[in-house]
Amino acid sequence: MRRYVCPNCGSGKLAPAHARRDDVRVYCLLCSERTGRLVRRVCEAAQREASDREARKAARKVREAVARREALARREGRRQVRRSWEQPLRDLHRDWKRLRSWGRRLTCGLTIKRTDRGSRGWAHLLRDTIVVYVDTPESDSLEARVTLLHELAHIAAPLDAHHGREWRELYLAAAAEVLGVESIPVPPGRGSKFVLDEAVRTAMRGLAGPSWS
Ligand SMILES: [Zn+2]
Ligand SMILES: [Zn+2]
Repeated sequence: MRRYVCPNCGSGKLAPAHARRDDVRVYCLLCSERTGRLVRRVCEAAQREASDREARKAARKVREAVARREALARREGRRQVRRSWEQPLRDLHRDWKRLRSWGRRLTCGLTIKRTDRGSRGWAHLLRDTIVVYVDTPESDSLEARVTLLHELAHIAAPLDAHHGREWRELYLAAAAEVLGVESIPVPPGRGSKFVLDEAVRTAMRGLAGPSWS
């Protein structure tokens, strides 16, 4: 039961918290008679509860807004860290798309992904884009550079070249151009992609070439 009080005369009555609309205890009949209109008693406890509810709701809204802002700032911070980490390999990608060895200006995009299972990559020829997985602290580590050049050669080569002659020639020519050397020494034989990667890796190793300094 709650106490309902008349706002005019202050007389009170007990009535259920959720009194029916036509419950006479909720109305001050004397004041109603006197004024000619129904005078409703006010349940102060209910009003207090309602305003407490409002206050709690407002506080929760503030807390939620703060949490959202903080989450956004964390995400933005992570994005900036990621952007600056990716930048060295992105710079190489931008420069190496313009190598004369390709025979044309490449337009492919680049997605860089962190991994802990070995640097690798793939070229999506139809979508004209490259994905490079990097497992080293620097995005432009030796492994990542070799992978990037390897994949760019796929983009430059004909669709059906795979790791065939055209791809190999483009790859080696581009590596030589990047390093500013006549040619890349490759062990005799047909030269699988692994042999070529190793040859390019060896040629690049320890060389802080002008192209990416
Ligand atoms: Zn009254
Ligand atoms: Zn390949």
